[in-house]
Amino acid sequence: MDAFKKGSNIFKILSEAVSEGIIIVNTSHIIVETNDSANQIFGYEKEELIGEHLDILIPNQYRHGHDKHVAGFMEKGQKRQMGRGRDLYGSRKDGSEFPVEAGLNPFSVYENNYVMALVIDISVRKKAEQELQHWANIFNESLNEIFIFDSKTLQFLNVNKGALKNIGYSLEELKTMTPLDIKPDFDRTQFIEKIKPLLNDSLDKLKFYTIHKRKDGTIYPVEVHLQKSSLRENDMLVAIILDITEQEKYTQKLEETVDQRTHQLQKALTKEKELGELKTKFLSLVAHEFKTPLSGIMTSATLAGKYTREEQQSKREKHLKTIRGKVKYLNNIINDFLSIERLESGKFNYTFSKFPISKVVNEVIYDANMLLKENQHIEYPDHIDSIYLNFDEKILELILTNLINNAIKYSSEDSTVYIVAEEIDDKLAFSIRDEGIGIPEAEQKHIFNRYFRAENALLNQGTGIGLNIVKTHLENLGGTITFTSTEGEGSVFNVKIPLKTS
Ligand code: ADP
Repeated sequence: MDAFKKGSNIFKILSEAVSEGIIIVNTSHIIVETNDSANQIFGYEKEELIGEHLDILIPNQYRHGHDKHVAGFMEKGQKRQMGRGRDLYGSRKDGSEFPVEAGLNPFSVYENNYVMALVIDISVRKKAEQELQHWANIFNESLNEIFIFDSKTLQFLNVNKGALKNIGYSLEELKTMTPLDIKPDFDRTQFIEKIKPLLNDSLDKLKFYTIHKRKDGTIYPVEVHLQKSSLRENDMLVAIILDITEQEKYTQKLEETVDQRTHQLQKALTKEKELGELKTKFLSLVAHEFKTPLSGIMTSATLAGKYTREEQQSKREKHLKTIRGKVKYLNNIINDFLSIERLESGKFNYTFSKFPISKVVNEVIYDANMLLKENQHIEYPDHIDSIYLNFDEKILELILTNLINNAIKYSSEDSTVYIVAEEIDDKLAFSIRDEGIGIPEAEQKHIFNRYFRAENALLNQGTGIGLNIVKTHLENLGGTITFTSTEGEGSVFNVKIPLKTS
C-alpha cells in the first residue's frame, strides 16, 4: 500500500476545504490523490485518476519535457509557482484544453516523496485578460493619436503609438510634458477653462480644433475629441486627435477651385456685360455715325443723277467719289465693330500667309485716296516691293487703314500724309505722319482706350474704336504701336511688326 494512503483521511478533510484543485503524485508521476475540485476541473471521477500517470491531465504537446521538469523540481525539493513566464494548459477528460495556473509543493510522508500540485482553472481570467489585451492593442495600434493626461497636473500618463509617431517625442519625454507643450495656441489658463466642463461633468465630451507642435517644431492642424475617464480615485482626460492636414488641404483646394470658378464666372459675366454694352453702343453709333455719311451719300447720289449730260461726266465722277468714300468709311466702322466683337468673345483666329507688303499698302492707299480732302496728298513708300511679311493680311490692312484714315481725317486740306515702311533689324517698321491737329498732351495717355476721343477731335466723325483694336491685334501678334504728337502740328504713329511671325 502506498505510504501516502496512511494519512489519507487527514488529507481528505483538508483538501475538500480548499477551492483549488489538488493533485498529488509520487516520484514516478503517478497520481495518488486528488480532491473534488481537481476532479471537477479535469472532468474525471476520482477513481479514474488514481493510479494514472500525471500525463493524463496534460495536453499531448506539453507532455514532452514536463516529466523532466517535475522530476528536476522534485530533486530540488522547493515550493514553486509553475507557469511563470509561460502559459500552462490542462487537458480534460473530453479532450478539451484549458489554461491553468499550478503551484507545486513537494512533501514527504513516511520517507516517501510526493508533490502536491495546486491547480486553478484560469479560463475566465485568461479570457478577460485577452479581451483587455485586445482593447490595449486597439488603443495602441489606432492610427488616430490618443493622449491620456492627468486632469489635475495635466501631465501625460500614456500615449499611443500613432501619437508618438506623429508628434515625434518618446513616451518617456511625453510623460514629463503636458498638452500645453504641444498646443502652442493655448496657455494654461485657457486650457483649464476649456476642459472645465468635462471636469465638472457639465459636458460628456468636447470637440475643438487647434494646432499641434511636433518635436521638430513643425505644426499641423488637429481636431481634438476630449473625454473624462476615471481610474480608482484619479480623473484623467483622454484625447483622441485627428490630424486634419489632408482635410484642410482638401478644403483649401476646394476653396481655391471655388475662387477660381467664381473668378471665371465673373470674367465671363463681365465679358457678357461688355458685349451687351458693345451692342448698345453699336446701335447708338449706327444711329449717330451713320446718319451723316448716309445723308451725304443720298445728296451725292441725287446730285449725280441730275448731271445727265455727257459733258457733265467730271461732276458725276466727283459725286460718285464722295459716295465711294463714305461707303468705305461706313464699311470701316463696321469692320472695326466686328473686330471688337470677335476679339472680345475670343473667337478671333488669325490667318498667316506670306505676302509682299506692297500689295496691302497699295490697296489701303487706293481706298484712302477717296477720303482725301482738297489738295491733300499721301506720300507713300516706293521701294517696298521686295519686303515680304508672314502675317495676317487682313489685320495689316485694318491697321494701316485705321492709321492712314485718321491721319487724313485729323488734318486739314492742303496737307500731306507721309507713309514710311522699312525693315529695321528683325522688324518691319511703318510710320504714318500727318500735319494735322495733333493730340493734346494731357489726353495722350488715353488715346488707346476704347471709345476715347480727344477734345479737339470731336468735330470730326469717329467712334474711338480704331486705335484700340489696332493695339490689341498688334499685341496679340507680337507687334507694337507708339506715337508722338504735338497739338496743332501733327502726329506720327509708329508700328513695328516682327518679320518672322510664326
Ligand atoms: P476715331 O478716330 O474713330 O475717333 P480712333 O480710335 O481711331 O477713333 O482714335 C481715337 C482718338 O485718337 C481720336 O478720336 C482722336 O482724338 C485721336 N487721334 C487718332 N489719330 C489721330 C491723329 N492722326 N491726329 C490727331 N488725333 C488722332
